Amino acid sequence: MAYTPTEQALIRRDIFRWLDEKQQQGQFDFSREDLSTYTWQGVNIRLVDPQGGIWNPREFDTTLTILSTRNGPYEDVVEEEGMFVRYAYANAERGTNTKLKRAFVTQEPLIYFAPSAVGRANRYVAHYPVYIAKDDENAREFVVALAEEFQLFSDPLEMGMDERQWAERRVMARVHQPLFRAKVMTAYSTTCAVCELKHVELLDAAHIIPDAHELGKAVVPNGLSLCKIHHAAYDRNFMGISPDYVVQVNGDLLAEVDGPMLKHGIQEMHGRKIHLPKAEIDWPGRENLAFRFDQFAA
Ligand SMILES: [Zn+2]
Repeated sequence: MAYTPTEQALIRRDIFRWLDEKQQQGQFDFSREDLSTYTWQGVNIRLVDPQGGIWNPREFDTTLTILSTRNGPYEDVVEEEGMFVRYAYANAERGTNTKLKRAFVTQEPLIYFAPSAVGRANRYVAHYPVYIAKDDENAREFVVALAEEFQLFSDPLEMGMDERQWAERRVMARVHQPLFRAKVMTAYSTTCAVCELKHVELLDAAHIIPDAHELGKAVVPNGLSLCKIHHAAYDRNFMGISPDYVVQVNGDLLAEVDGPMLKHGIQEMHGRKIHLPKAEIDWPGRENLAFRFDQFAA
């Protein structure tokens, strides 16, 4: 039985909430099995097709989600297009594309599942809400806008430089955040670089050079997996990490006398070498660490 348009809108919003919740609990990517466990008022609703990419539940008038069926690493899919992903028409029966064409007309908010970081096959990072920005019938492709800001323009691919920069700046951090977290957690095997805590629910993907800074790119060499306390301490310069990967605690803090958290959690970290990712290519960039360490030392 089909859901009413109001119910469909409510369910979409509830799925966003469900994904938010999972991510707050520390999950950063999803398998097809994970995505078949969602329920709405006691009824199970799958969030992805058991095999394919475009998911059109019978009870919905438009596509609910799309999943990338490309094999390559994630960045090949997104960064070549900036804020957009080109998503090929399904080759299957025409009906599969019909509901996605309708989602373009009605500008329904969709979820796009992109391949997770390298090394985690068949797992997907969720982007939502995303919109179909263009239905390119000649190329047999949909252009997916990864952020709602692009809805403001009639044809987002034809927007002027100023508009484009404005929109890109607004969405950059948000769009890349889930991917950045997934990559950093994978690189560090979900371990705090300072204290080696391994509970993903308590870990953040921290930027070395802050993302507000123009050099603060959301890439693994500018990232650190840090537990909440060490993330806060690092951001507030209570703690620094030298370009040769050694933890330095602020002098005043080192001299302070307080409870076990200060003693064991912070002071005893002074002089320790950080836990580094297995792959050297994922290690924090020395120039990034140096840039931040100068701020800490000052
Ligand atoms: Zn820690």
